[in-house]
Amino acid sequence: LAKERGKGCVALYEPALHEQALQELQLRSDLARALEEDQLVVHFQPTIDLATGVVAGFEALVRWQHPTRGLLGPVHFIPTAERTGLIVPLGRWVLREACRAAATFQTPTRRVTISVNVAAAQLTSEGFGDEVVAALRDSGLPPSCLLLEITESMLLGDLELIRSRLEVLRRLDVRIAIDDFGTGFSSLAYLRRLPVDVVKVDKSFVDHVTDDDHDASLTRSIIAMSQSLNLATIAEGVEHLGQAEWLRATSCRFGQGFLWSRPVPLDQARALLAVAGPLRPADARDAVAVG
Ligand code: C2E
Ligand code: MG
Ligand code: MG
Ligand code: MG
Repeated sequence: LAKERGKGCVALYEPALHEQALQELQLRSDLARALEEDQLVVHFQPTIDLATGVVAGFEALVRWQHPTRGLLGPVHFIPTAERTGLIVPLGRWVLREACRAAATFQTPTRRVTISVNVAAAQLTSEGFGDEVVAALRDSGLPPSCLLLEITESMLLGDLELIRSRLEVLRRLDVRIAIDDFGTGFSSLAYLRRLPVDVVKVDKSFVDHVTDDDHDASLTRSIIAMSQSLNLATIAEGVEHLGQAEWLRATSCRFGQGFLWSRPVPLDQARALLAVAGPLRPADARDAVAVG
């Protein structure tokens, strides 16, 4: 295409593409080393039972403690990991870390759920079922405390393969969530044909439930239809008290968002879990901590 537009374009675009390819290669080898040298860390963001305000579980979210660039969020390396296949060992590492941490969250009277994001390549990789079994066995985490999150867009892939993988997990008593629900193409009726337990309502809906009638009615229908299919709902990206109140009044079961807490390191996650009764909004907790 650049060639058709004249020679000047070739000179302009080719070095840029070359540069991009080099950067990807560099990132890939740095990331492979990061995995070997333990530079990855898992942070934990609480999910709140909206009826009681109590912490019900956590989502495990990976970060990279980069030797020169600081703490990097997943947007900086998950896409490369997915393109290069490194997502499979990376995801396996996160799963094991998350299960190990979550096993220590459990008490005889309290079950705490841990959500782990699973990429398409990981779910469809040969040994995935065995990896889940091993992570559960080695950590001692009860399988029903593990919630694996797959995105709606993954269902556009080899649906039969995905369905059979999900069924294996279901037989282990592991639970399945559809992440970022509402951003893809699947309908709730279609989810009924898959062994799914939880729907995570995407942040883009939650953002406007209190100020946009259209988003409010879409969110209300997602929650109502989920309920009629016996699926629990988690609203993602809850930032304001008004949204939390709206969601609770609309019978959404769980919420997750900066209102309560950003994703935090393990020791801070333990402190959130130790809070007796409802978890107050993060800014209210900070005010107490400061004053
Ligand atoms: P996700 O699974 O949808 O995770 C939720 C993301 O929303 C997290 O971003 C979280 O920090 C952010 N978030 C939560 N509450 C709020 C809020 O109130 N406001 C705003 N603005 N954002 C909020 P994060 O940690 O940057 O992760 C981004 C994505 O990276 C995740 O989206 C997930 O798709 C992917 N990811 C993270 N860890 C893993 C992993 O271990 N494996 C795989 N395959 N993907 C991962
Ligand atoms: Mg997720
Ligand atoms: Mg999500
Ligand atoms: Mg999301």
